[in-house]
Amino acid sequence: MNLKESIEALHEQQIAAVKVMRDNFAALQGVESRDFNFEPMNVRAVYNPARAVSSAAKVDKATIEARPCFLCTANRPEGQQSVNCLNDRYEVLVNPYPIFKRHFVIASKEHEPQAIEGRVGDMWELARELEGYTVFYNGPRCGASAPDHLHFQAVPTTELPLWEALRKTALQPMTAESDAVMSKAVGLPIDVMVIDAVTADGADRLMEALLPFLPISDNEEWEPRFNLLATSMKSMVRMAVVPRPCHRPTFYTGDPTDESGMTVSPASVDVAGVLVMPRRIDFDRLDEKTIRTIFNETCRVSC
Ligand SMILES: [Zn+2]
Repeated sequence: MNLKESIEALHEQQIAAVKVMRDNFAALQGVESRDFNFEPMNVRAVYNPARAVSSAAKVDKATIEARPCFLCTANRPEGQQSVNCLNDRYEVLVNPYPIFKRHFVIASKEHEPQAIEGRVGDMWELARELEGYTVFYNGPRCGASAPDHLHFQAVPTTELPLWEALRKTALQPMTAESDAVMSKAVGLPIDVMVIDAVTADGADRLMEALLPFLPISDNEEWEPRFNLLATSMKSMVRMAVVPRPCHRPTFYTGDPTDESGMTVSPASVDVAGVLVMPRRIDFDRLDEKTIRTIFNETCRVSC
């Protein structure tokens, strides 16, 4: 079996064997959604109360240090199994709190901080091996709920409207090398830089060149703020880099009883066009103007 077949078999095994996974994947079948047209990009809001655990997660240093790391083998849910990949440097797990009908976490075998340096090539390789999936990375200050343990995630590419929008919209070339091209997407509701690379090296080089231009973090300990998504396209891997001036919009609240704010916490999936709304009230009152504000505040460098 190749890696893609192995993780899909793992998915079947896990939903049969682990109750929390069976329940949470089954609950996805009834998920309500609302579509908003930001031509050329569709934005889909989904009501998913099980994601409150992630959207309202506290990611400050003290909270992270005080809790057991849920990606380390010793602290995983009972029955959770994994498939090794990339020369056993990573392992693929089924996400117990899914957004899509297939949703994986690809965790480093080491407990090491979420940081992209030296890992873009790994994402490129994973995207190649997992054709049909998008491998994505949430920066430590941009949606990762385990900023202390390096990990990526993988979901079906067809679920993310960003890729179709990038096919339809103009890409302004910025840097062209023999094995990789970087361009800027025009006319989307978010800022997106695109790296098309036929080699892992090319992707790594262009991302390294881009890093100094991404929004700096509020703490020098952390790398710049961005989300990074990668998917295989014919002979190359396309990567989308979304710069993130802020992690959460100004009206964000993590308090379930506070109706003056919204619990919306954009990470890679959201910036790729699927806004995860864990609270009913927010899902119902979401409108085009609010989505524009969320994107302008969290995904536009110019604002
Ligand atoms: Zn860990």
